[in-house]
Amino acid sequence: MSKKFYITTPIYYVNARPHIGHAYTTIACDTIARRQRMMGFDTYFLTGTDEHGQKIERAAQAAGKTPQQLTDEVSAQFRALWDRMGLTYDDFIRTTSDRHKLGVQALWRRIRDKGYIYKGHYTGQYCVFDELYVDSVGPGEPCPECGRPTETVREENYFFKLAAFQDQLLELYTRQPDFIRPETRRNEVTSFVRSGLRDLSVSRSTFSWGIPVPDDPRHVIYVWLDALANYITALGFGSDDPEKYERYWPADLQMIGKEIVRFHCVYWPAFLMAADLPVPQRIMAHGWLLFEENKMSKSRGNIVRAETILEVLGTDALRHFLLREIVFGQDGSFSFDALVQRYNADLANGLGNLASRTLTMIVRYFKGEVPYPSHSGSRAAEENNIATTARRTIADFHALFEQCQFSRALEAAWGLVAAVDKYLVENQPWALGEKDDDESRSRLATILYTSAETLRIVTALAHPVMPDATAKIWGQMGLGDIGKFSLADLQWGQLRLGTKLGEVQPVFPRADKAAIERMQQLEEQGRTVSPSVAEKTSPPASTTPVPIMPAAPVKPATIVPDGKISIDDFAKVELRVGQVKVAERVKGADKLLRLEVDLGTEVRQVVAGIAEAYAPETLVGRKVVIVVNLAPRKLRGLESNGMIVAASPEGGKPVLASFLEDVPVGTRLK
Ligand SMILES: [Zn+2]
Repeated sequence: MSKKFYITTPIYYVNARPHIGHAYTTIACDTIARRQRMMGFDTYFLTGTDEHGQKIERAAQAAGKTPQQLTDEVSAQFRALWDRMGLTYDDFIRTTSDRHKLGVQALWRRIRDKGYIYKGHYTGQYCVFDELYVDSVGPGEPCPECGRPTETVREENYFFKLAAFQDQLLELYTRQPDFIRPETRRNEVTSFVRSGLRDLSVSRSTFSWGIPVPDDPRHVIYVWLDALANYITALGFGSDDPEKYERYWPADLQMIGKEIVRFHCVYWPAFLMAADLPVPQRIMAHGWLLFEENKMSKSRGNIVRAETILEVLGTDALRHFLLREIVFGQDGSFSFDALVQRYNADLANGLGNLASRTLTMIVRYFKGEVPYPSHSGSRAAEENNIATTARRTIADFHALFEQCQFSRALEAAWGLVAAVDKYLVENQPWALGEKDDDESRSRLATILYTSAETLRIVTALAHPVMPDATAKIWGQMGLGDIGKFSLADLQWGQLRLGTKLGEVQPVFPRADKAAIERMQQLEEQGRTVSPSVAEKTSPPASTTPVPIMPAAPVKPATIVPDGKISIDDFAKVELRVGQVKVAERVKGADKLLRLEVDLGTEVRQVVAGIAEAYAPETLVGRKVVIVVNLAPRKLRGLESNGMIVAASPEGGKPVLASFLEDVPVGTRLK
């Protein structure tokens, strides 16, 4: 039986519909899975959705749906997008499925029976957004992870003896240096664990949208214990049929985003050790995908959907861009300009051009059959050069891919494309093609063979990254089904002489400015026509999304006499109650304070000229009025997202607008 390879994406939380960030992780895993299959591994690729927890329960309530309805809807959106993109997952696990529930309960019992779960009390602050108890803050203080308000809870809970695993975890990180990649994340986790671990609360009794604790159904199992278990429940752990579990576990590669490193690299191995189960081989954390250097967020209105790119440039263009442009593990930036530039340079002008000119010349000069290279030519050194470069490229590409260094691997492959382009320009096969003498014919045959063989090698290497286009090129080269090709055997010189080409057609038409405009337009439409689930399900006080640009032309203001404005004009200004979470002076600006203001659904940075009137520490916790839909602007290099409302007496200091009665955060003023 061939060697197995088990790869997982994180399961995606269904509080938002899928966007390009989710696609990024899943594409990376799909690429690895495709390559492992081509390398002859018995590969199993898992993805799915994470569907329990208080956040989902509340979101469903606000939307007038049951949690099951909400999760059914959003989970289906993820699955539909992955299918549309042709992602080759072998299983899609949902944490609300029966098979998952049974597996989680089996894992719980196993940990409990080994003595690592006990009952205790917890009183303290809880962050609903992060589904996390925050020990480090007191009542009324914001969550240190996300800045949102915390709630004080007192619960009888089950606890997991996490503290007991401190030494074993540190030992794991040393024994298995690849357990956490990249190195920066490994260092972070190691120092976190070294600083001491506290037992972890692993049940909740304040809400019910979760998996009941075995033998104590008043409690549900902590969402992270529930969610992490998907990697084994999907394989049938705890079921009557654990065959896949026995075959594929432990995972060879678990891909995650850097924000969930602690859960995967501390809690997850600790749960597994407690249950006496093997831990994964390798956990790889990638960075964030930024939009033109900014974090994508709902409030900025800059979340990009994968669908937009699929529609205009196709899946391969998106896959290639994400893996080529971004150094895997680090944050990377997405923009439509960069996407189109990369597409034209690497695909239309690079691989696409190499394919079309090589294959077209073989059709024209050799009746569409791969010609015989001549071994006696005086310039054989040049061909040897290309062959040597190709051999080195194959070796480098494999080594870099194994380390998830996709961008460098692709860079190496495109180095080979550049080398053969240069070779073609220097040797002018099109000029030789016009001559009839034997020497020219023989020389032309050698050049086109060399070019075609290079094309075959780059196409095979790039297949896991760009499955559609490379399959087409492979077919045009008369090589049949690329899916059946064994990448592990790829070598220079395998292109069979006399291979009859298929029909030659361009694979990557050039993209122009119109492509960028079309994508921007689609994004605007996507934002206004179908708001994200999170927007739909926010509490009524905060349903208004805040677009940076008006989606449609604003209708002209109604004319009202005496310089007055109509109620419609006033309604355009969105004023809301916010609470100051953080206030600090801005370096080099005597009048400015940088504030972080909680608006109930999000925390905004606002820069305000009130430093002469208010000491920053007096503002923390204070409720203020914010103009929420003001276009962002930069003050002293800081982005201000909204404006704080104050009375500004002539020649006096500003006085903040405030309320005598208590008003909930997020309430709209009208
Ligand atoms: Zn939080």
